[in-house]
Amino acid sequence: MRLHLIFGAPGSGKGSLAKLVNEKFALTHLSTGDILRDSVSKETEVGLRVKASMANGTLVDDDTVNGIVFARLQDETRGVLFDGYPRTLKQAIALDDFLSKTGSEFGLVVYIDVPMSVLESRIVGRRVCGNNACGAIYHVVRKKPVVDGICDFCNGLLIQRSDDTSQAFHARMAEFNATYEPMLAHYRGKPNYRQVDGIGLPDEVFNAISMLYEEYV
Ligand code: AMP
Repeated sequence: MRLHLIFGAPGSGKGSLAKLVNEKFALTHLSTGDILRDSVSKETEVGLRVKASMANGTLVDDDTVNGIVFARLQDETRGVLFDGYPRTLKQAIALDDFLSKTGSEFGLVVYIDVPMSVLESRIVGRRVCGNNACGAIYHVVRKKPVVDGICDFCNGLLIQRSDDTSQAFHARMAEFNATYEPMLAHYRGKPNYRQVDGIGLPDEVFNAISMLYEEYV
């Protein structure tokens, strides 16, 4: 089994790019956020334990997250792309340890680099369809709807999510820098670490990432 990691700040496009990479290279997509949300909604023992952290947007403790991840990896045979893991230096070290014990291989570690000013304009300009069943995403400059303020697909009203304000963005970035930086420093300089310029159009960024995966998958 080969493990690939993809990192990027809020607004870097990481989630959408990870989906495209998984489809193209037939990797198993493991999102710790999705697994934890599922545990909360099913009210499992872990779900009940992590419910409060999930609701506050604070990180779940490292031992719980590592336990979930390693249990999932036991059954995996094909390549895996992690989305949202590791999130702390302690998780990164535990993952190294797991890989060396199980004889699994480390694949590609990609960091999508987008300057702070671009991230802010992407997030603050984001509008989403208020109809939860639709949830289409727009941007006040980059992706306008045909009729101002109205969703092209379902005629729902477009809204700004409460965590997409400038103030919330700066709070999320402060948290991102405090926890991600020491974790990223752990990978920088390793031969499988690649930084990709994430400023271009989504297709351009995806093509640049695909070229890297061609080599590694
Ligand atoms: P996400 O969907 O990746 O934004 O994650 C949603 C929430 O799940 C986060 O705010 C954390 O509470 C929790 N979470 C997801 N991944 C991790 C992780 N690797 N370490 C700790 N908490 C996590």
